Amino acid sequence: MVTQPGLRYPVGIVGAGLIGLAVARQLAEAGVPVVVFEKEASVARHQSGHNSGVVHAGIYYLPGSAKATLCRRGVELLNAYCSERGLPWDARGKLVIARDEAEVGRLRELERRAIANGVPGVAWLDGPAIRELEPDVAGRAALFSPTTAIVDYPAIARSFAGDVGRHGGQVLTGAPVSGVRRDGDAIEVATAGRAHRLSRLVICAGLQADLLAKAAGDEPAPEIVPFRGEYLRLRPHARSRVRHLIYPVPDPAYPFLGVHLTPRVDGESDLGPNAVLALAREGYRRQDVTWDQVSRLARSAAFRRLARRNWRAGVHEMHGSLSRRAYLAEARSYLPWLEPGDVMPAPAGVRAQAVDPDGSLVDDFRINRIGPVTTVRNAPSPAATASLAIAEHIVAGLSLSLGTGR
Ligand SMILES: Cc1cc2nc3c(=O)[nH]c(=O)nc-3n(C[C@H](O)[C@H](O)[C@H](O)COP(=O)(O)OP(=O)(O)OC[C@H]3O[C@@H](n4cnc5c(N)ncnc54)[C@H](O)[C@@H]3O)c2cc1C
Repeated sequence: MVTQPGLRYPVGIVGAGLIGLAVARQLAEAGVPVVVFEKEASVARHQSGHNSGVVHAGIYYLPGSAKATLCRRGVELLNAYCSERGLPWDARGKLVIARDEAEVGRLRELERRAIANGVPGVAWLDGPAIRELEPDVAGRAALFSPTTAIVDYPAIARSFAGDVGRHGGQVLTGAPVSGVRRDGDAIEVATAGRAHRLSRLVICAGLQADLLAKAAGDEPAPEIVPFRGEYLRLRPHARSRVRHLIYPVPDPAYPFLGVHLTPRVDGESDLGPNAVLALAREGYRRQDVTWDQVSRLARSAAFRRLARRNWRAGVHEMHGSLSRRAYLAEARSYLPWLEPGDVMPAPAGVRAQAVDPDGSLVDDFRINRIGPVTTVRNAPSPAATASLAIAEHIVAGLSLSLGTGR
């Protein structure tokens, strides 16, 4: 590895979510001095700490895609990591439910993908077999994935951060990166009046990814459009009615998985998330609106194309966000007993969804390298599952490119 002599931390990482921390721990364990800059007061404050907590088995993804390969490798690495560190891993298993004949056809395609992706143990269930496993779930057919698991991602992120520190690296919280400047082969990163000179920089900034990547010399596209995912939580009396994770067959037009029921490792059970356009990058509540983001969306040709093509779905999601009854209508198609009194509001998450200039939602993971800078431009679900595998991929690219920036 060729780095500039005299640098205390030759590699810097922006963002202490699961991806930034997974990259940092791998580098630190390999003996590379590394520093992570995180603008919040602690790690995993955004997507990595506000998600469904699921370790996806790899059912949905196009065989051969980065999502498919990194998800399977990620499951293997994360399972070994959690067992070694004594972190919770509950392989509850999941049912993907087809509610009508059209969905049965789409579910067959998911079955083909699951087999091609090497997902272990998937089984096709007919209606009676569903009810045998889950008496309170309705459906024509289901794909059963017995290895889909639930974990505690914030605890995993804290453990990753601990690994970085133990191996001589540093996670600087409360350190927003306000500027990135290329200076020959080096990079200068500015945080609160300080300049850090680095040989390599990896930008894993989630909801801010496009803004920082652009500042570091990467393309402006794809842009990040934030989509809030709102959850409802089952009240205690309703929690024990369903044991497995229950998902609908997703709409192939969108990279989102549809409102699902997910038990959590703390014993709660959440329904969600929907996908509502957020008017602030970190807009966790409906009333979170920033002028900056609204004017960015208004100026964005990519967003206008996205909105023109998907306004119906957008209105539908907004309706579900405003009306609990409308929100529950979707879930009642496979959990017919659900009533508004069975649920209460739960914290939302915000997805960093990349959008290409033609207005299409970027489906696969996207990671760019511009000389000494690596930028993670699209890392939606299953990127928490795949975080250790994404880190392997990024670190392999760093070793190859170190000293040979283009
Ligand atoms: C609602 C929802 C449900 C999901 N469910 C699942 C699931 O069940 N399973 C799964 O595998 N995946 C799931 N995902 C996806 C998964 O959570 C993300 O893919 C993953 O957490 C991305 O990690 P990250 O490190 O890229 O981003 P983040 O966790 O968002 O981290 C980015 C970090 O960068 C920091 N940052 C940004 N700008 C700056 C700056 N200028 N200076 C310093 N720091 C900065 C932020 O503060 C943040 O901490 C879900 C996502 C959402 C939103």
